[in-house]
Amino acid sequence: MNFFRGYGQNHEFEEYSLFLVSNLFFYMNPRHTIFLIFLVIGSSLYPQQFRFTRPVPDTVQNNGNYLYGEPNFQNPLLAHTGLDISIRNDTIRSASRGMVTFVGYNPNDTVGGYEPGGAGNYILVRSIWDNKLAYIYYFHLKKPISSLYDSVYPGTPVAISGNTGNSTGPHLHFEIRMFYSGYSYPRTRRNPELWFGIQGTGAIYGRVPDASNSTRVDIFPDPKPRPPYTTFSYGLTYNFNDTYIGSDDIYNENYAFGDVKPGTYTITANGGAYRRVVSVGAGQVVNADAAVGIETDVSEQKELIAEIYPNPFSSSFTLRYHAGDDEGNFSYVNISLYDLLGRRIAVLEDGVKAAGVNEINYRGKEEADGIYFLRIVNGNRAHILKLLKIPVNK
Ligand SMILES: [Zn+2]
Repeated sequence: MNFFRGYGQNHEFEEYSLFLVSNLFFYMNPRHTIFLIFLVIGSSLYPQQFRFTRPVPDTVQNNGNYLYGEPNFQNPLLAHTGLDISIRNDTIRSASRGMVTFVGYNPNDTVGGYEPGGAGNYILVRSIWDNKLAYIYYFHLKKPISSLYDSVYPGTPVAISGNTGNSTGPHLHFEIRMFYSGYSYPRTRRNPELWFGIQGTGAIYGRVPDASNSTRVDIFPDPKPRPPYTTFSYGLTYNFNDTYIGSDDIYNENYAFGDVKPGTYTITANGGAYRRVVSVGAGQVVNADAAVGIETDVSEQKELIAEIYPNPFSSSFTLRYHAGDDEGNFSYVNISLYDLLGRRIAVLEDGVKAAGVNEINYRGKEEADGIYFLRIVNGNRAHILKLLKIPVNK
């Protein structure tokens, strides 16, 4: 007997065209052939807010011994790609607004394996955050409550938690993948502890410079609300050896503390060489590095992402762009050309690229004259450049 029910076969990347509308931040001077240089501020100088709501009751704690980005318990060369929440056979509520685009459920399942990570029974909710696709996974379920194509909202009951798949005890593995839902896209995972927290708490993130993977990061005093927390753990910088581990698109952190009580904390690493004092309020997500040397931080984080010339172009243009992450690791790059209606005209690049500057020559085909957009995804960053195609003889 085969009880497997799997829906929504293709939950790989799905195009959406509306992203163009709200990305009108580009600069363009149509009278000249110009360079477009985009400056990226890799972290926020101001407190942000949680983006989602917590999918479990506030009396349930996260597993502080196995946080996002920590070495994988079965293979330390890999890392934990989500957040484990210690909920036992209880209702899970949607953390976000979105649509259920996959329900994998087998009532006889004890070993799972509906995808390489051993998710067991799981559901996928496709959401949009900051005009980017965010795919939300709920793993190891006892059973789903929601059905395929259900619209869900923060707080909508979506499943009963369980212990199916590659799981050593009842818990919810909550995972966020940006841009792509599929398993094997580098740097697409995000730390859920920066997306939601227990009511009345905040979160802190930062980047220990030149930190080796899994560098210990201490926080004082104890930031956890008690109850529900019964354990306290220090943090570790993310294990970026695992190519799936990504930093936040705005925060660009390499460590984070979630469920932090309002207060002022001292964070140290590398024997005190890294030391930050930071205050956090309820619902706030605070950059520990923003309090020191703001001017310096900003200028150091400016980075050439891409330049394109000539623009306007007639028959061809050249794109120079930077691949790789801040550590000099390779990154997944997708560069696609879209028209004004958001239709993809061409894929200029799609694959893993070594860190460094790359150059692409694009020779136009039958495109009409007019405005186009080049969307560059480099690891966990996405940028859009505007292009103008003009007649050849002008
Ligand atoms: Zn997990």
